[in-house]
Amino acid sequence: MQSIENLKFLTPEEARKIAATYGTPIFIYNRKGIESSCDSVLSFPNAFGITVRFAMKANPGRTILEILRKKGIHIDASSEHEVKRALLAGFKPSDILLTSQQLAKSLKELVSQGVQFNACSLRQLEEYGKAFPGGEVSVRFNPGLGSGATKKTDVGGNTSSFGIWHEEIGKVKEILSQYKLKLVRVHTHIGSGSDPEVWKAVAHYTLEIASQFPDCRTVNLGGGFKVGRMQGEKTTDPQVIGKPVKELFENYAKDKGVQLKMEIEPGSYLMVNNGAILTQVDDIVTTGKDGFTFVKLDMGMDVNTRPALYAAKHPLVVVPQKEGAKIGTGDFVYVGHCCESGDLITQEEGGGPQLRTTHTPEIGDLVVMEGTGAYCSSMSTKNYNSYPETPEVLIDSDGSVKLIRQKQNLEQILQNEVLVALG
Ligand SMILES: *Cc1c(COP(=O)(O)O)cnc(C)c1O
Repeated sequence: MQSIENLKFLTPEEARKIAATYGTPIFIYNRKGIESSCDSVLSFPNAFGITVRFAMKANPGRTILEILRKKGIHIDASSEHEVKRALLAGFKPSDILLTSQQLAKSLKELVSQGVQFNACSLRQLEEYGKAFPGGEVSVRFNPGLGSGATKKTDVGGNTSSFGIWHEEIGKVKEILSQYKLKLVRVHTHIGSGSDPEVWKAVAHYTLEIASQFPDCRTVNLGGGFKVGRMQGEKTTDPQVIGKPVKELFENYAKDKGVQLKMEIEPGSYLMVNNGAILTQVDDIVTTGKDGFTFVKLDMGMDVNTRPALYAAKHPLVVVPQKEGAKIGTGDFVYVGHCCESGDLITQEEGGGPQLRTTHTPEIGDLVVMEGTGAYCSSMSTKNYNSYPETPEVLIDSDGSVKLIRQKQNLEQILQNEVLVALG
């Protein structure tokens, strides 16, 4: 028997009030929660200083970025476009590190402004060398091991294209000397895990790589602090994984005489459980004796793609329309509103419906989908079935609710279409 999930930061009254004021579906973020997550990573154990960069792909909304900026968090940008959004949100160019799968077309312009560049392939390193001979650079390595919650979220090891493969270090040195580049930062990012042993191993390999570059002063261990969404799932404790890592940095200083500064790049950790989607039950259908009871929500993969993409599980909490209504429990399959077989909100890995035990919903009841502060709003298959982009509100520190993104309208969905005379 699965346990019934609870609301993480909303009260049922708040949920009803937000639904009545703004409609559903809607993203709700919790400022207090975001700020306390910031405090927890900013106190990550470290030997010689730490910079925390928000992996802004997790949630690049302007208000979210400003909350984090005010807390002293810096930026990990995964594309040149993210760099530009971070600049608009008031970040200094020097507080932004660009770590991109694709070589930025505006590399010269951004780096000239002071944005830091992390070369993720030999080609990127070479192009940087051509543009900025004699400059300082950072390099992302794939240390040859990975750690992800699923095969699909692993970003290290030989099945991952992220970063320069550790055996190609000789080629890195050749490019550095050819263009007289100084490698000042070594970067690794292997995926999400909460195992202190894995973090220690990654830190160990990363320091070993750093030791081969005499100009290296900073080591960036990437993100990937696992965050539990469902009851019983583990959440990484930065204090626990940080302790052995700190010792490794101290030993490095003893052995090599270099006090390395540490950087970490959490995305999920700062946001996951500080955001929720408020949605409403639109319909309930059944498929006979050996079938299922399907609960259809007024949101789907166009709002949160993670269930369809990763079979990710998000807590679903039924909030009855009427206060104090007594409701039973049951097993249901929750589905999204897109005409798409993959738009199952509770699904097995590899596809197909999965039963979820919740309170028994009725048409018109609200359902809060928890754990949706990261990689939901930013990663959705927006406008599929021509559903408009979902509005967003923030619960501010004083408890007031503020609209931070409006619902998209039809004109905005169509705005880039060019009408041609078809004759
Ligand atoms: C996505 C990403 C992160 C953040 O990963 P989380 O699992 O959200 O913490 C950090 N660093 C880099 C380079 C990334 O691409």
